Amino acid sequence: MASTDSSKIEFAKQKHVNFIIEQESNRSYEYWLSEHLRMNGLYWGITALVTMQSLNDTTLKQNSVIDFVMSCWDARAGAFGAFPQHDAHLLSTLSALQILKIYSDELVSLSQEQKSQLVVFIKSQQLPNGSFQGDSFGEVDTRFIYTGVSALALLGELTPEICSLAAGFVMKCFNFDGGFGLVPGSESHAAQAFVCVGALAIMDKLDVLGAANDVKLASWLSERQVLPSGGFNGRPEKLPDVCYSWWVLSTLSILEKKHWVDLDKLARFILSCQDLEKGGISDRPNNQTDIYHTCFGICGLSLIDYAKYGFDEIDPVYCMPTRITRNFKKWKLTSK
Ligand SMILES: [Zn+2]
Repeated sequence: MASTDSSKIEFAKQKHVNFIIEQESNRSYEYWLSEHLRMNGLYWGITALVTMQSLNDTTLKQNSVIDFVMSCWDARAGAFGAFPQHDAHLLSTLSALQILKIYSDELVSLSQEQKSQLVVFIKSQQLPNGSFQGDSFGEVDTRFIYTGVSALALLGELTPEICSLAAGFVMKCFNFDGGFGLVPGSESHAAQAFVCVGALAIMDKLDVLGAANDVKLASWLSERQVLPSGGFNGRPEKLPDVCYSWWVLSTLSILEKKHWVDLDKLARFILSCQDLEKGGISDRPNNQTDIYHTCFGICGLSLIDYAKYGFDEIDPVYCMPTRITRNFKKWKLTSK
């Protein structure tokens, strides 16, 4: 069980590495139940490993990873599903592209035809109002805008037209309290702040937020730090949760206002959620660990002080190591 005495807790790197390896090798009942999240789960595991500078053939075999990703290719749709034979979806498509990009900047596992099909699939999910749907079933929320533009950026295929439409929709989801919602008029939520601001950053459109809203948003995000624990919640009056270490701090990082919160207290909260025996990180101290909170706890620590933990520096916009995003993040609008 995780300890609540966080003041002297070390980061249990090797235990977490083992925890992640076991997630992939231990094909338990839960593993099969969560097929619909398998591609995302693999991305979370790989991101945690690469951030801890522990992604190699001993921890996770590159060939098996690439084989699994490519086995999820949905040839009919021209994009990736979460599991072999599953229908393509934007979420699993972005995770697949992120994984492939970590291994190869040129995305060598994909043929030119597959890349072209991906661009067609992703672009076809954008609706006339600028929003994106996750798949042809039409569910719309700001998560899919982030997913769509990030995936296009990884492919080097963003266009000014896509960006102006998408940025317009993002700003319609900005609320009076300073936060962002799932759709226009819906309640502010910290994860939505990340997807909206992250999408604007990818599209080089952060200026549409404006200086006053920028401060309002950073204030709303800073208020997510729950004292005395130091962890962040996703909405007012909710309990702190490790995954918001990522959603909130990445957004503050993009806004260059990370110093508005108490980073030492946040680090102690994340460290207090480690399972020091079996590895892994949970949402709150003493809860069951999982790969999602393990990934975002580690990414949060990287944003706080990557050098202190011997980590790779993480890019707050793409949630991938900066040494990888450096190659494609200098994307500029081709015809302004
Ligand atoms: Zn959570």
